[in-house]
Amino acid sequence: MRQRGSMKIAVVGGGVAGLGTAWRLGQAGATVTLFDGGVIPARGGAATWASGGMICARLEMRDAPAPLKAFALNARAAWPGFAGELARKAQTETGYVERGALHAVFVGEPFPEPGEGVELIDANAARALEPGLAPDLRGASWAQGEAHVDPRWLALALVRACRAAGVTFAPGTRVLRLAPHGDGVGGVVTDKGLLRFDHVVLAAGAWTSELLAASDLPGPRLRPVKGQMLSLAGGAAPPVSRLVWAPGCYIIPHADGHILIGATQEETGFDTGLDHAAIDRLKDHAVRAVPALAELPEIERFAGLRPASDDGLPLLGGVGVEHLTLASGQFRNGILLAPLIADAAAQHALENRLPPVARPFTAARFTVAAA
Ligand SMILES: Cc1cc2nc3c(=O)[nH]c(=O)nc-3n(C[C@H](O)[C@H](O)[C@H](O)COP(=O)(O)OP(=O)(O)OC[C@H]3O[C@@H](n4cnc5c(N)ncnc54)[C@H](O)[C@@H]3O)c2cc1C
Repeated sequence: MRQRGSMKIAVVGGGVAGLGTAWRLGQAGATVTLFDGGVIPARGGAATWASGGMICARLEMRDAPAPLKAFALNARAAWPGFAGELARKAQTETGYVERGALHAVFVGEPFPEPGEGVELIDANAARALEPGLAPDLRGASWAQGEAHVDPRWLALALVRACRAAGVTFAPGTRVLRLAPHGDGVGGVVTDKGLLRFDHVVLAAGAWTSELLAASDLPGPRLRPVKGQMLSLAGGAAPPVSRLVWAPGCYIIPHADGHILIGATQEETGFDTGLDHAAIDRLKDHAVRAVPALAELPEIERFAGLRPASDDGLPLLGGVGVEHLTLASGQFRNGILLAPLIADAAAQHALENRLPPVARPFTAARFTVAAA
């Protein structure tokens, strides 16, 4: 392994994956430059800025394959430490809260299977937790261990923590392709020319496979899956105090007073335009579950592109090309998985190996026959 202090590493992508990995690499003593084609943290269409911020290792993972469930539970367990360390290093809030999540069930709807860490409760118990739920509530699945974080505060905190760890930022610098060097990658080509690096971490979200193709490198396919959301101003006494899943939507009250309602899931390429009829439907679903939401002023409607791999699992580590690490493919769970994605990608960049819990997600499964 190289001396970390002498390693020059480029990270491509200013979302949660790139920022988290850059932070860990900076802390380990590497000389890190983080590139994004836009501002940092990434906005306009980037998934992180448009995210709900749910950290749901139970409700979100009901039908997930066993390795992803295990990864999610480990990530959930890492969150308190990650959020605490981040808040200290960045000297700012992340909006991380542990208040559990209710999956509300109304008259005419079946109860979902409870599952591990999820308890079925009756309407009285559910209303004791969330008095604002609609009168025809039948009960709920109650997942006490779920949490959430404000994804925008998280991204801003990661920027501050990266700065404190010595990471250099290159906003407004689109990486056109990765530069070859020997049997691997030796830098990045931007509109300012070739910049040499010892290693490149590709955390370019839904754009990751485009960049691999532009660089004539093998790699898994990723497709953008658009999600649209809206936010409401919660006011002095918000009608929800914890994460609520309801038919057709989820509702997330954030520490900054915004209540997010999401989200659509659409395969429309890289288009990030808003479909107001679809967002109106989300709002209708939310009001059906928590009627007082109808009274709250709307703040913003927005969309982002989730990075989805062909098998729906994360893409971490190498693709059989030297000096290249992928940190992508987190699809609907990039915030939940953030602490482990950052650690795994940083470890791969520094030591050329993934931690055991991340090995099922090696990106090489798509490119190296024996992987
Ligand atoms: C509506 C919505 C709701 C979601 N809710 C949740 C949730 O509640 N919980 C959860 O865990 N996950 C959620 N997700 C998923 C999560 O947000 C993503 O998995 C995660 O944010 C992906 O982060 P990322 O850093 O990989 O990508 P992004 O945040 O998209 O960042 C990638 C960045 O790479 C940059 N880039 C791309 N190409 C280049 C290039 N060539 N040169 C330079 N820069 C480049 C882009 O500009 C972009 O800024 C949600 C996603 C959406 C869209």
